[in-house]
Amino acid sequence: MDHPFVYTAPAARIVFGVGSLQHLEREIELLGAERALILCTPQQRNQAESLARRLGDRSAGIFDRAEMHVPIEVAHSAREKAARRGADCALAIGGGSTIGLGKAIALDSGLPILAVPTTYAGSEVTPIYGITKAGLKQTGRASRVLPRTVIYDPTLTLGLPVGMSLTSGINAIAHAAEGLYAQDANPVMSLMAEEGIRALGHALPAIVKDPADIAARSKALYGAWLCGTVLGNVGMSLHHKLCHTLGGSFNLPHAETHTVMLPHALAYNAAHAPAAMRRIARALDSDDGALAIRNLASKYGAPVSLQELGMQEQDIARAVELTVSNPYWNPRPLERSSLVALMARAFAGDPPITI
Ligand code: NAD
Repeated sequence: MDHPFVYTAPAARIVFGVGSLQHLEREIELLGAERALILCTPQQRNQAESLARRLGDRSAGIFDRAEMHVPIEVAHSAREKAARRGADCALAIGGGSTIGLGKAIALDSGLPILAVPTTYAGSEVTPIYGITKAGLKQTGRASRVLPRTVIYDPTLTLGLPVGMSLTSGINAIAHAAEGLYAQDANPVMSLMAEEGIRALGHALPAIVKDPADIAARSKALYGAWLCGTVLGNVGMSLHHKLCHTLGGSFNLPHAETHTVMLPHALAYNAAHAPAAMRRIARALDSDDGALAIRNLASKYGAPVSLQELGMQEQDIARAVELTVSNPYWNPRPLERSSLVALMARAFAGDPPITI
């Protein structure tokens, strides 16, 4: 063991497996709750309705206005509905946006969250929340927003479109990759990170070939849990800072931006984090982790350039300025000119190189 560490085990209860949604009633009871307000996006209203029908009197209704970045007005409406309907828990079915709405309710009210994730974003196992007020996203950490129970049922991910499966899976890999070189890395999280990358690296090509492959869906969701847990437990670096800047200030889509940026951020850091890079490459059966992730995206049709995500070339300088003005810790110092070159390559869709 080459450096000292502190490890606090996360408190969430994980119920994993094909068909595990059958345990929903038991899990609500174990939370000591009686009435769940069901949260979803308008697109996942059908799934929420089927839960509401199942729960009968134990449903406090559906709030179906979850959206990206949790606008404060939406969070207030959801909180108000939870109080009016006498909900004593929030049942969030969906991706990071829906689980993020649950967190915004829990932040003030302390309402316990039961999360049923349907993407690979990982928010369900982190104490990190984000709320957008007057166009500005504020993020923070609070243990009370960590969902108390997570039901991971791969069946619910069968309908996740192939393109989103791929970008959401690479979004998950990003948490683990940066977790491997985190300043506060610890051996348990590093084991989870490498295993998470390996699981997703194997599962994603199989999902592209057959989106109904339940074994591959299970493996991907297992990887997403591991990678999300890493995100919740150790600090993130340049890659996440770049993605938060591009998402928050330039409105680029979350998982797609992670997909484009990850190979470039890893190439930037590679020489300063050789042990992490070896583990990423090993997990992906490759000699070069950054290139392996880039190939995973390009081979199966995921976006590889910021240009195709709608970024304007003239915004590169401002994005770099925002990144360096309030940086996260990073294994390699942030150098403006190198970051401008990195962003220019990401904008154009060039392969990752050490700059
Ligand atoms: P999302 O939750 O925004 O979902 C995107 C769309 O896909 C939505 O319309 C959703 O209803 C739909 N969808 C989800 N699952 C589906 C399924 N199985 N089948 C069909 N459609 C489905 O996307 P996301 O990438 O999961 O989450 C992104 C958001 O989560 C961002 O705002 C990001 O900042 C946040 N996030 C937060 C954390 C954290 O730890 N706090 C971690 C990761 C992401």
